[in-house]
Order: sequence, then C-alpha cells, then structure tokens
Amino acid sequence: MIRVLDKQIADKIAAGEVIERPVSIIKELVENSIDAGADSIVVEIKKGGKSYIRVTDNGQGIAHDETEKAFLRHATSKISTVRDLNSIQTLGFRGEALASICAVTRTELLTKRLCDKTGTRLILHGGEVVSSAHAGCPDGTTVVITDLFYNTPARLKFMKSDSAESTMIIDLMSQMALAYKDISFRLINNGNVLFSTSGDGNRLSIISRIFPGIDIRNLVEVDCVIPGISLKGFVSTPAMTRTGKNAQIFFVNGRVVNSKVIEKGITEGYRERLFDGRHPIAFLFLEINPEDLDVNIHPNKKEVRFNDERFVEEFISKAIKEALGRKEAVVRVADAFRESYENKAAFRSQEEVVSVKEEQFNFKNIMSTVSNDVAHFVQDVETPPVFNDFAGDNKSEDISEDTIILEKPIHRPFDFDQLQIKGSLFDTYIMAADNDCFYLIDQHAAHERVFYEKLVSEYDAEEKVRQPILVPVILDVDISASASDEWLEILCDMGYTIENFGQNSYRISEIPTFMDLSEAENFARDFSDNVSAASATRNSVVINKLIMKSCKSAVKANDILNPEEIDALIKDLKQCVNPFSCPHGRPTFIKLSKHEIERLFKRV
Ligand code: ADP
Ligand code: MG
Repeated sequence: MIRVLDKQIADKIAAGEVIERPVSIIKELVENSIDAGADSIVVEIKKGGKSYIRVTDNGQGIAHDETEKAFLRHATSKISTVRDLNSIQTLGFRGEALASICAVTRTELLTKRLCDKTGTRLILHGGEVVSSAHAGCPDGTTVVITDLFYNTPARLKFMKSDSAESTMIIDLMSQMALAYKDISFRLINNGNVLFSTSGDGNRLSIISRIFPGIDIRNLVEVDCVIPGISLKGFVSTPAMTRTGKNAQIFFVNGRVVNSKVIEKGITEGYRERLFDGRHPIAFLFLEINPEDLDVNIHPNKKEVRFNDERFVEEFISKAIKEALGRKEAVVRVADAFRESYENKAAFRSQEEVVSVKEEQFNFKNIMSTVSNDVAHFVQDVETPPVFNDFAGDNKSEDISEDTIILEKPIHRPFDFDQLQIKGSLFDTYIMAADNDCFYLIDQHAAHERVFYEKLVSEYDAEEKVRQPILVPVILDVDISASASDEWLEILCDMGYTIENFGQNSYRISEIPTFMDLSEAENFARDFSDNVSAASATRNSVVINKLIMKSCKSAVKANDILNPEEIDALIKDLKQCVNPFSCPHGRPTFIKLSKHEIERLFKRV
C-alpha cells in the first residue's frame, strides 16, 4: 500500500537529489521497476531523453486508487515506520522520485496489476493531475515522460548535447544490465535498439550484447569465493588490453564504484603479464560483508572505502592470477597478431610523446558512438590485414549465444603434465600439444621467465645454494659500478660468490646452481651495467627490475636444445608462479586450438 509518510519519518530521510537531467529520471524509474519485481524493463529515449523517456516494466503494477498517491511527496509503499529504515531492501524508499519527476515534466502513467481486469491511465502536467481513467493495458507499469523542464526553462540550459545526455543514459543502463543479470533490459534510442539482454543470468552474454567491440573469447571468468568476500566477473587475457583503464567496471555489493584499491589489485594480478602502459579489460563484481565497508561514504557517491584495503587488494590480485593461470588465458595465435600490432602502435606513440587519445577502447567513446545512433560498434583496433579473414570470420561464428553457454569454462589451472613435446622449430620455438591445442613456446622468453623467478626467489631465500666453478671468471666492469660494492652483495644474495680483483675487475668463483657458466657470466655483466645506470638500493622492487633487465641477454637465443633440455625447461616453467609470459610481458606460450587449425584447412 502506498502511504504518505508522516512528517516525523519524512524528516529523518535525507532530502533527495533533485532531478537534474534525463539520466537521473531514468535511474529512478528503472529502480522503481526493479523494486516492483520486474524481470523485463524497456527504456526508450529520444533526443537524449530531453524530449521523450519511456520506461516499461512487467512488475507488480499499481492499484487504480493508489496511482495518484504515488506522485505525492513522501508517498511510498516501501516503508511505513522509522524502524523499517534499518531493514530496507529496496532501491528507493524516500517516496520522492515520482513527485520530483512529475513536477518538471509532462508525465503519463499506465499501470495494471495482474489481479485487476483493467489498468489506469494517469496524466500529470507539472505535477497537476490532468486526467485519470481506467484503461486497458498489459500487466506492469509504463511511465512516459515528455517535455523535460518545459516549465522550468532555466534548468534546460544545463542540459548537454543530445549525444552527451544519451551517453550518460547508455552508461547507466549498461551498468544496470550488468548488475541485474537476471533482468532483461532493452534500450532504444531514437527508434534504434542499442542493446537488449536476455535476463538469463549469463554475464558473458550481457557483456557481448553491450560491448560488441569486445571479443569475449579473450575474457576469462573470475570466480573466487571465501567467507565474507567474493569476486566474480570477467577479465581479459593478456591478448586483449587497452592503453587506459576505461574498460574496467567494478561493482561492490551491486553498486558501481570507482576504487583505487580494486585497480591496484588488478594491476598486481596482471603483474609481468602485460607490457608497460597496457591495461586489462575488467568487469568485476565484489561482494563483501557490509560491515567491512566504510558506511560513512555518501550512498550516491561512486567511491567506496574498505576497512581492510590490503586484504581486499590481495584477494583481488589472487583471484585474477588464478583466472590468468588457466588454459583459456593462454594467448591465441590470432590474438597474438592483433596484440603485437596494438603494442607497436602504443609504443610508437609513446616514443613520439604524442598523447594518444583513448581510442582503442573507451567506455564513453564506444557509448557515444552508439548514442549517435550507430547500433553496431567499430572494432576497437584494426586487425592487421594478414589475419583479417581469419579473425573476422571466426568471430561471427564463434560468438553465438550457444557457444557462450556451451563453453562455460571449467576452472582448472593449466595442466603442464598434459603437454607432449613435438619438437623444435627454427632452433627457437618448442612445439607442444595437449589433447585439443597446439602450442608454440618461445624458448628464449621461457628461459627468461625461469631465470627471473629463480633469481628472485634465490635472492629472497634464507639459504643460498651455489656451485663452485673450476676456473674463476674475471669480470671487468664499468668504473661507475666499481664505485659502489652494493651490487656485489646483491649478486651474492642470488647465489654468486664474487669479489673485487684489482681495479675494475671482479672474480667470480661460485655461481647460482641453475645457470651454466656463460649464462652466469652474461647475467653478472648485465647486472653490473644496469646497476650503474640505476642507483643500487636494497629495495626489492628495484632489485626485481634489475634482475628483469639483466635476464634478457643471459639467455642464449637460437641455441639448439636437446630433448632433455627441452623437458627440463618445460619442467622449470611449470614451477613458475607465472609461466605464461616473460618478465617483460611477452608471451612465452601461444596456442592454436585444434578447432582453429581445422578452420584454417576449411575442414569445418
Ligand atoms: P519510492 O521508490 O522511494 O517508494 P517513488 O516516488 O519512486 O518512491 O515511488 C512511489 C511509489 O510508487 C513506490 O513506493 C511504489 O509503490 C509505486 N511505484 C513507483 N513505480 C512503480 C512501478 N514501476 N511499479 C509498481 N509500483 C511503482
Ligand atoms: Mg523510487
């Protein structure tokens, strides 16, 4: 029952936001539809919502004799006592939205409850009832708003362009569709359907409907639940990245938020998986015990504050690492083409120090493309011509609704034990396969990864293991490196025994157990070079960077590996925390599925 709240309660409720623009009207109307239990909501707008907004739902409807009451200030069916305020489950409860909306527009309400034979049509202009009558209509509620601010022209001036207003509406509706995955949403702009979702609870299909520019084959599911906190959603594989963080949307307990803590968790989860300056796409839904959130933040603000930020950040990074450690996350050959192309473009622009506008993917940009009535999206980056056919072709076939359901991933870490080595290619790549994929492993990148992780863990280890060498190696270094001895200690911590041996010379008598002599010598030389460039501090981040830089040349390229060495390398890789990329973010593995091979040969 809709009642007008008495003054005592009404005063306890913070004054509502004023209706500022079309998007605020739509937010209120859609929230009412959700509160009314609708599982299908259609939003239609014209001219950015300034001239026309219609929201139709199949919710519970409003009884004939309550329709006018719904538009009174502080009229709500959602609370009746002050006590109810503490147990509120609905999105609205202040009973103000419809009153504020109808005051500044021409409003038409068409509503019918399932149990009623006829519904009601109620028309209000500037808050005054113009007509009210029984009317035939489907179950549910439709609210049509026309002539926004017709009676308060001053406010009209604050409106932005049609497309800017539609962009805000599209953003809101996209977020709503993602957050309420069991509700079917449809958004129509100037007669064109911008998107529609099925309400079947499948977030991947929602993403593909809302962002056709995202190749959902490059999204992996995140699904991590522990008592008190859970993270679900999708993140991109290292094969699909952007130059900015605009393609990251976070929900905390169902609400869209901005959060540096979540961003940091993501960055950490992708550490060493991406080139510098690249960012993943992420749609993440965090559910956390409300007690672990700071409640003092205004409910309409997009910020969120966690009581234990470190815990949340680590939880997110772990959940992402787990997702990226699965077979689905191994870079596909087709995407490796595109990604290297994107990276080249990114690097080029960095070198030229041109501030490239976020053209690859920008939530806002993509959306405004749509709001200009282009109902299909431009592919984010041109695919290089060589792969056009393959990628394009593949896409249309693979990304059907059926595939999404069929390919519901089983979450298992990549299984190295299934890998069968098939040989070596150009003395640089290891060929391997499991039951349904073929892999090329870059020997050099793999070695780098293995060295890097071993050196870092050796550096961190309490006990060092060293192997003596028969004839000591003499290393001549730059003057600047010899000015400080700190780098010697760092090398010692990684398993070297090295000491000063005359002016710019050093004598190595023991080396880390996992390196051969030439690898150890090259690494030590590069390390001393890099130390002289950076100031050697005992900061693990700096040291990891130094190790990362120095690993590269330690590894021999074009070195023929015998089968035992290949096996050993794969075994070492298996032990790595992060086996799928070298420390600089280049992939160690790329995969081509059996299905893709069959397509290449036109077998399927
Ligand atoms: P609130 O949502 O805070 O209760 P509103 O002004 O938004 O206040 O709505 C007033 C009342 O009108 C609601 O409490 C609800 O009973 C009714 N109402 C509004 N929209 C709908 C709808 N789409 N379906 C059914 N009832 C609705
Ligand atoms: Mg409401």
